[in-house]
Amino acid sequence: MRAVVIHAPKDLRIDAFPDSPPGASEVRVKIEAGGICGSDLHYYHHGGFGTVRIREPMALGHEIAGVIAAVGSGVPHLLPGMRVAVNPSQPCGVCVHCREGLRNQCLDMRFMGSAMRMPHVQGGFREHVTVDAAQAIPIADQLSLGEAAMAEPLAVCLHAGKQAGPLLGKRVLVTGCGPIGALMVVVARYGGAAEIVVTDIADAPLVVARRLGASRTVNSATEASRLEPYRAGKGVFDILFEASGNQAALRAALDLMRPGGMIVQLGLGGEMTLPVNTIVTKELQLRGTFRFDPEFELALRLMGEGRIDVKPLITASLPFLSAVEAFELASDRSKSMKVQLTF
Ligand code: ZN
Repeated sequence: MRAVVIHAPKDLRIDAFPDSPPGASEVRVKIEAGGICGSDLHYYHHGGFGTVRIREPMALGHEIAGVIAAVGSGVPHLLPGMRVAVNPSQPCGVCVHCREGLRNQCLDMRFMGSAMRMPHVQGGFREHVTVDAAQAIPIADQLSLGEAAMAEPLAVCLHAGKQAGPLLGKRVLVTGCGPIGALMVVVARYGGAAEIVVTDIADAPLVVARRLGASRTVNSATEASRLEPYRAGKGVFDILFEASGNQAALRAALDLMRPGGMIVQLGLGGEMTLPVNTIVTKELQLRGTFRFDPEFELALRLMGEGRIDVKPLITASLPFLSAVEAFELASDRSKSMKVQLTF
């Protein structure tokens, strides 16, 4: 079979890739759709991020869905032909964090398309993947495989929503409107937020945010003065979902938060300098959020029941043989929100 493999920055190839029949507890899935994530783009442009670097060729991709092609002898609940989303995370199940219910913090996590481990865990941008049966989650008939491939980023955002606590009636600010920021709009709306304000430094993603239900959008590069009213008193927002990973975005947002407000940091920003006095005196809460666990199946359920619609985020689908073109398109924020590959 063939796969979309990163060799070095800007060296993305379609390579022959070894196939493996399913073991007793595994299934083989014919991949149909794969979404390009920000981390895939980091590997493509820079060969990685932070200390995580490509040290051997690696198939990219961890937002994937397809059709079951073969089933291991010990898998009673899945059949060939079933349409599934593939959960890219495989926690060990036995480490201290898995046993205490924090499987996203697993000490021995295998996450598809990640260069954190050596050898790297190969990703899902291939014609077939063979995974543990627990990673293949059947999807509703009315859900397209492209939508099903959005389960992973939606799960990230549902997990972030939980980190914030109740959203009902809250005033929410989302900074950074890539696919994750845009999905935070969807989650905040689903959670019952009273007001959702979204900022970005580009106009095109803000158009998508409005379509997804944002109350108001502000281009913080060209019209930052429109945020002034939110500084009233000590600030007005109950919750910030910071999805840019940009120090300037977080610093600016601190002044808009009401005392006791909750900041959920999704963007991986590396090192930042922050006015800690503002956090201390306004008693702000700063929480991280990382990946997901049960939220993957929740994401599929909410999409499958029509409670959450992610279709407005999918801005293009290209055949995997045009992967370089697709990665370039996904890198152009004036044109793209979520770009998917088809296989
Ligand atoms: Zn573990």
